[in-house]
Amino acid sequence: MAIWNPWHGCHKISPGCANCYVYRKDESIGKDAGVVTKTGDYGLPLRKNRNGEYKLSAQDGTVYTCMTSDFFLEDADGWRQGCWDMIRERTDLHFHIITKRIDRFERCMPSDWGDGWDHVTVCSTCENQDRADHRLPILLSLPIKHRKIISEPMLEEITLGKYLSTGLIERVVCGGESGPNARPCNYDWILKVRGECMQYGIPFTFKQTGAVFVKDGKTYRIERKYQMAQAKRSGCSYEPPKAPLP
Ligand code: SF4
Repeated sequence: MAIWNPWHGCHKISPGCANCYVYRKDESIGKDAGVVTKTGDYGLPLRKNRNGEYKLSAQDGTVYTCMTSDFFLEDADGWRQGCWDMIRERTDLHFHIITKRIDRFERCMPSDWGDGWDHVTVCSTCENQDRADHRLPILLSLPIKHRKIISEPMLEEITLGKYLSTGLIERVVCGGESGPNARPCNYDWILKVRGECMQYGIPFTFKQTGAVFVKDGKTYRIERKYQMAQAKRSGCSYEPPKAPLP
C-alpha cells in the first residue's frame, strides 16, 4: 500500500468537510489548507531509484491517490492530465481515488478512458442521505470498472439499498469522525448499512468508531488510538462467502 499526493490543499464542499483532517493538520502548523499547491511527489508513480527501478513497486499494490486534497478539484484542472498519463503507464499498480466531486468526473476523465481502466477504483463518499442521493446515481452512471462507497464520517442514518441492488458497488466502508469537534456516529446507522450490504452480498468494512460513538443509547468518547481497533473488535465488518469453484 502506498499514498500518492500529487497536490495538497482543498476547499470545503459539503457537511462531511466541516472537520476535515487536512485543514486540522495544516492549522496546527500555521498553514492554510485552502491554498492548493502541486507537491514534490507529483511525479511519484514514474520516479525511479538508482537501479532504474520504479520507487513504487508492483508489491506496493494499492496506491491511495490524492489523500490531502480531492482529485477532481477545480484548482487541479491543469495538473490532472499528467496524473492520468502516469496512472495509464502503471498498470501494475491499483489506484484508489476517493472523491466528494464525482459530479466532475466526466469532464475530468482522460480521452482514452473508454469504459474505465481495470487498475483504477473510484470511491464516492456520502456522509448523509442528501449527499448519497446526489452522488451515488452519478457514480453508478459513469463508465468505471471498480466502484466503492465511503461513508466516513457517517453523520446520520443512511439508506443505500437501491444503489447496492445494482450490483455495481464492490465495497462499502463506514466510520465515525475523529478530532476534537467530532460529531457522533451511532452504531445503529453502521448496522443498518451493514445489513443492506449483507442483503446484496457486498463486502462491508466498519473502519473506525470515530471519537464520539453512540451504542445502545450511551455515548462513548474514544481516544484516537482505539478508534480503529474498537471497530475491528466489534466484528461488524462483513465479507460475503466466496462462490464455490465449478
Ligand atoms: S473534499 Fe476532502 S480534503 Fe477536501 S475539504 Fe472536503 S474532506 Fe477535506
